[in-house]
Amino acid sequence: MIERTLSIVKPDAVAKHGIGKVLARIEEGGLEVVAGRFLRITRAEAEGFYGVHRERPFFNDLCTFMTSGPVFVSVLEGENAIARYREILGATDPAKAAPGTVRALFATDIEKNAAHGSDAPETARIEIGFFFPGCELV
Ligand code: ADP
Ligand code: MG
Repeated sequence: MIERTLSIVKPDAVAKHGIGKVLARIEEGGLEVVAGRFLRITRAEAEGFYGVHRERPFFNDLCTFMTSGPVFVSVLEGENAIARYREILGATDPAKAAPGTVRALFATDIEKNAAHGSDAPETARIEIGFFFPGCELV
């Protein structure tokens, strides 16, 4: 099934000049970039975006990290894009991420883990709408 998913190249990877490297893996992985924005996330946006994690002990630090520098947010499209992109990213904890994945290559630790990918169709739809409010899924 052709899907769309939301990608965020996080502040740590942007600071390491990793935007192009992540995009290269996306494109080499058979996914297409169909929308993109370079921006600095506000505190309120970070808290809203990661709202499902509000009760987690790492929530406050995560929001501080996500607002610490610019990010590159994009919409990816392709066959099974949601699962495919999470394969390209590797596990949340870079110590557990498969060799060659974005997080194995570029992440610093479980928080500063280089990039975000949506985890399911419904969250992808919500997350895409969060940063690309005019972008209707067809
Ligand atoms: P994923 O981004 O792989 O979907 P989660 O949705 O579980 O992972 O977590 C969202 C983000 O919160 C992670 O990408 C990471 O930046 C941060 N995070 C997750 N678990 C931890 C943790 N135990 N300690 C610190 N930060 C964490
Ligand atoms: Mg998640």
